[in-house]
Amino acid sequence: MYIKLFIPGPVDVEADVLEKMATPQIAHRSKTATELQENISLKLQQLMYTKNTIILSTSSGSGIMEMAIRSLTGKRAAVFSVGAFGDRWYKMAITNGIEADLIKSEPGMPTTPEMVEEALKTGKYDVVTVTHNETSSGLMNPVEAIGEVVKKYPDVIYLVDTVSSLGGAKVEVDKCGIDLCLTSTQKCLGLPPGMSVAAISDKAISRAEAIGPKGFYLDLMNVVKRAKKDFQYPTTPTTPHMWALDYQLDKILNVEGLDNRFDRHTHLAQIVRDWAIKHFELFALEGYRSNTVTTIINTKGNSVAGLNKELAERGFMISNGYGDLKEKAFRIAHMADRKEEDLLALLKEIENIWNL
Ligand SMILES: *Cc1c(COP(=O)(O)O)cnc(C)c1O
Repeated sequence: MYIKLFIPGPVDVEADVLEKMATPQIAHRSKTATELQENISLKLQQLMYTKNTIILSTSSGSGIMEMAIRSLTGKRAAVFSVGAFGDRWYKMAITNGIEADLIKSEPGMPTTPEMVEEALKTGKYDVVTVTHNETSSGLMNPVEAIGEVVKKYPDVIYLVDTVSSLGGAKVEVDKCGIDLCLTSTQKCLGLPPGMSVAAISDKAISRAEAIGPKGFYLDLMNVVKRAKKDFQYPTTPTTPHMWALDYQLDKILNVEGLDNRFDRHTHLAQIVRDWAIKHFELFALEGYRSNTVTTIINTKGNSVAGLNKELAERGFMISNGYGDLKEKAFRIAHMADRKEEDLLALLKEIENIWNL
């Protein structure tokens, strides 16, 4: 049986979008490939509210995270973490021999502009990384207010992970002064996993040029150079994803419309939060709760694994708490092309199974 995924990626993909993956193969050095990548880049600039250079990567989002931290850190990176995906950026830095400090918030608390100011004031750092939407804790960081702080330090490059928010929440890259903003296809964009995209500022490109090549397949400059030269990819890209992305971006921009899409996500998030507060507690601090995934504290101590088993029989799946939060919390994603009626049906099933 087909199971509806309420996990924070991969998400369910609409049938018409999925069909585009079956477009007949094209030569990756053809004019068609160039036009396809150019079209996608122009549409992503609209989605990201930016004039920056767009790159596509035939890797999941972690590929671009790793390229970014090692190609852009000259001195030392200040890695701000509010959960598992912030920690990941630190692990990438350390295992690539990049100097970095991990600056963690208390559980459920955001990265604040004050924390960033305090770090940057020391003059130790030339890179800041922030997770916009922490998928483990269901928390959204104030990337615009943090951007105002980073702007005061012209030598600092601002990297933002919007993997589980871009396409579901408004991220205005140029306004926030983000130098590298990345996302994966399998979350709010509503596509299958296997590809990721980013917008990169000229300032970040100059930094990467000054630092020089880092590896080959995941060398940021290699990918940027080819994209700038002729809208192509240094190796063979996943053209099936590109066809689907090009089509899905048209739907996002012109069929649903950006504001409607963001409003739908906000509305679905509100439904889940209201429901969760009625029965449980929310993990993230009020004012910083995610519009794409909600992390709910399992205050009743029910078995989350058991719930998922029963949900599977009814055609649904949610996520257990991430890492240390396993069984202590559970997560409900409300992202991509999720419809309200499906979300309400899921909540009803949970009420039935747990006798809420
Ligand atoms: C899923 C996720 C990632 C990892 O993305 P992959 O595409 O699986 O590599 C990174 N950051 C956040 C916030 C995520 O939700």
